[in-house]
Amino acid sequence: MYSLMANCCNWVKRWREPVRKVTLIMVGLDNAGKTATVKGIQGESPEDVAPTVGFSKIDLKQGRFEVTIFDLGGGKRIRGIWKNYYAESYGVIFVVDSSDLDRMEETKETMSELLKHPKISGKPVLVLANKQDKEGALAEADVIECLSLEKLVNEHKCLCQIEPCSAIMGCGKKIDKSIKKGLLWLLHIIAKDFDALHERIQKDTTEQKASEEQEKQERAERVKKIRGERERKEREEAECEGRMLSDEIDSEIVTGNPFQPISTVIAENEKKVEKEKKRQREENEKDAIALNLKTDQEQTETQSTISQQSNDCRLLESYKAALTQRLEHEDENDQQIFESLDSGDNAALNTGLENNKKKSKKLKLKRSHRVEPVNTEDQVSPNPTPVAPLAPVGWETPKINRIRKLEPLGETHRNGV
Ligand code: GDP
Repeated sequence: MYSLMANCCNWVKRWREPVRKVTLIMVGLDNAGKTATVKGIQGESPEDVAPTVGFSKIDLKQGRFEVTIFDLGGGKRIRGIWKNYYAESYGVIFVVDSSDLDRMEETKETMSELLKHPKISGKPVLVLANKQDKEGALAEADVIECLSLEKLVNEHKCLCQIEPCSAIMGCGKKIDKSIKKGLLWLLHIIAKDFDALHERIQKDTTEQKASEEQEKQERAERVKKIRGERERKEREEAECEGRMLSDEIDSEIVTGNPFQPISTVIAENEKKVEKEKKRQREENEKDAIALNLKTDQEQTETQSTISQQSNDCRLLESYKAALTQRLEHEDENDQQIFESLDSGDNAALNTGLENNKKKSKKLKLKRSHRVEPVNTEDQVSPNPTPVAPLAPVGWETPKINRIRKLEPLGETHRNGV
């Protein structure tokens, strides 16, 4: 009866206990089997796991505990982040690859570093001697010896339990019993000394937050200092390069707002383009005027050359005509002289000779003063006729090409073909 009453009291007591939130960290070298263990606890298959990069977090409920486990990456470079989680951790799960004898020394050093940290020393540690299923894996006692575990835990006043296990044996309810046993031991120790641990964790986390805040401020100060230094250097360099540069930059800063709305920027750009186009159009017009003037000049020059040539042609033609006329008259005169010689008429002979003299004088006058317009195309005409005045330059005299009359196709053609 008395024991029944005691059991009931205990049950009521436990029922009234508040839910306790506990944070644990799972550490160990890379490839030790941390993720596989965590997955197994969570109830997921521990076989298809990828090595942890950074960290992963799982939440589980165990009795009156709400447990959060941080699975922290074990690579050499990443181990530095472990310390950020020490303060809030109630206990440690350290996973060892019992089959990897080559890395036992490294494992020992890592564990030593961990346990001597002020925010870990004195906290409970569960060591999982994993990969027991593998051939040649060290037994529990050998792992204790290789890691000098007794010495280490005594030195740093850490309660310790070692469990030989295999993380890939199963998951969830079928998880390796050693893992489950080890986890329960850890939670039990934590529960036993929960208040003291909780107080320490509160204190450590507050301290850590304060130190993180201080670090943040110091970092901001450093960044500010570096930036100021860089700006000062840039200013000095700009001054060395010449004042123009700084003036330009200043004017840019004053006039150009870098955070204008895009529509304003587009409108400004369009204005610039329009201005440029206008300027180019004006330049083109100027060029065109200059070109026209030049063309007119050239045309005038061409005109004068053409009229000169026409004049020359006309002179030549008039000279030709005069010469022909003269020859005709000379022929007539000569005929008259010969006839007078034949008939012996001296008077007629004299008249003929006189006429000859007069005509040659007249011709001389005519040639030197009179220029008759002639059609250059009719140069071959033996009798020069007066032609219409030349058309203005630029107007081309229409030229008619006469098409030769086609012969009708006849017998000859066909024969030829
Ligand atoms: P982590 O880097 O510590 O997270 O290691 P993982 O959990 O990623 O495991 C590394 C490799 O070891 C994986 O290929 C796992 O399948 C394998 N592994 C983990 N635990 C065991 C185990 O108990 N036995 C065997 N044979 N392999 C395991």
